[in-house]
Amino acid sequence: MTETLAPVRPGKLIIDGQAVDAASGRTFTTANPATEEPVTQVAEAGVEDVDRAVRAARAAFDDGPWPKMRPAERQRILTKLGDLVLAHADELGRLETLDNGKPIFESRQIDVPMVAGCFHYFAGWATKMTGETIPVAPQWFTYTLREPLGVVGAIIPWNFPMIMVGWKCAPAIAAGNTVVLKPALETPLTAIRIGELALEAGLPPGVLNVLPGRGSVAGEALVKHPLVDKISFTGSTEVGQHIMRVAADTVKKLTLELGGKSPNIVFADADLDAAVRGAATGIFYGKGEVCAAGSRLLVEQSVHDAFVARLADRAKKMTPADPMDPKTRLGALVNEAQMKKVLGYVATGVGEGARLVAGGQRQPVNGRGWFVQATVLDQVENTMRIAQEEIFGPVLAVIPFADADDAVKKGNDIFYGLAAGVWTRDVGKAHRVARQLRAGTVWVNMYNFYDPAMPFGGTKGSGFGRDLGAESLRDYTQTKSVWMNIE
Ligand code: NAP
Ligand code: MG
Repeated sequence: MTETLAPVRPGKLIIDGQAVDAASGRTFTTANPATEEPVTQVAEAGVEDVDRAVRAARAAFDDGPWPKMRPAERQRILTKLGDLVLAHADELGRLETLDNGKPIFESRQIDVPMVAGCFHYFAGWATKMTGETIPVAPQWFTYTLREPLGVVGAIIPWNFPMIMVGWKCAPAIAAGNTVVLKPALETPLTAIRIGELALEAGLPPGVLNVLPGRGSVAGEALVKHPLVDKISFTGSTEVGQHIMRVAADTVKKLTLELGGKSPNIVFADADLDAAVRGAATGIFYGKGEVCAAGSRLLVEQSVHDAFVARLADRAKKMTPADPMDPKTRLGALVNEAQMKKVLGYVATGVGEGARLVAGGQRQPVNGRGWFVQATVLDQVENTMRIAQEEIFGPVLAVIPFADADDAVKKGNDIFYGLAAGVWTRDVGKAHRVARQLRAGTVWVNMYNFYDPAMPFGGTKGSGFGRDLGAESLRDYTQTKSVWMNIE
């Protein structure tokens, strides 16, 4: 069972290679969603701290060693950071679970390796980004340089606090940029720790600055700051839209990874055992606080009743439990407000005429915590609010469909376009439907898989730009065309 945990030391800002207090001296408390108890105090960055961090990042870029360093040296340092993340896997996994409420199984076995994987994968790219020579005329030497953008502001959400550090910082830094990272107020601890490990790995001061603080204060100041070249944001669609408007004043480049309401489509000819498991992990992994969650389950009419019965049985067995227990698969939602929002949607769904077939209640563990049962709502119409709005919790909306055309139509009939799932044994149908779905990622006979080498991002209301893969490096670099007369 749960081991006794050492107290977590207070979190500081990391600016120019130093752990410092906020200029204002302000701090905030980060809490454990499973116990509702404080974990530790964290320095709260204000506008002045953002300015200091941006200037440090600017100096590290303009005058400092990072973009001037040999790519092989950048590769070596980022590889070491990946190694250090793995060497601190237990500590980072524990911090993440304390801060976010997700099962330690996920933090330790999935999130830590993903973060390390990002640093290792993008370390390799540091030595492999090249320009081109482009023959235009014999008397000219014409070529392109692939250059970093400068200072990148990274603003990340609370659902994958540590993974998002890897997704944003590894490609930006590998490409030669410097970064000011603002983690979510709810979950700053792993970002701070990785910031410390980066210094240990040999990242020069100012290359990665970490500023826990409020979005409306520190985040906003970062987006407005004239010395920041790009904002890479993952979070809600509303805040993403706001950032787009504010960033227009300084013509900042943007990557926006926003919300989702992804269709997970089960055809009657699928391996239904695998599809039941895939439907459950599609929505219950990460407590459903996953942007790409398969939160709309589209099931072909002919197998619908039997499929939903099996899924409901599975959901009822997935009871919330202590996130620190390695056997736990359903943890606590991030805070009370999120729990209330999720339960509010369950009530809305029932009010709209959906049928509750599993869960639907808060279920404290040891008498406390923001836990919600694995919930399945059946007979949902695609027009209902629970089918159209992102709930961001362990709540699945099941929508029946007639045939492939109907599945694609319903799948695409949504503001978002982040991800989708397809379950079928018909190879041709799988490829056809994958092409027709308007989503940044389509999983066939699998769901919720990620890898540093595979690009991830959205279309439509889910944003633009890509994290991960070689593709993400385009979003952290720009092309310079050089013309030389060699007559
Ligand atoms: P959020 O409220 O949009 O917050 C995201 C980040 O933006 C936080 O660090 C937040 O700071 C900051 N922020 C808030 N207001 C800001 C402002 N005016 N200027 C600059 N920054 C500001 O989202 P969330 O509730 O943390 O996360 C859940 C959302 O993220 C969901 O909609 C989910 O779908 C989305 N998400 C998307 C992806 C993807 O890849 N597409 C991945 C994960 C999550 P605070 O800490 O103060 O709120
Ligand atoms: Mg917390």
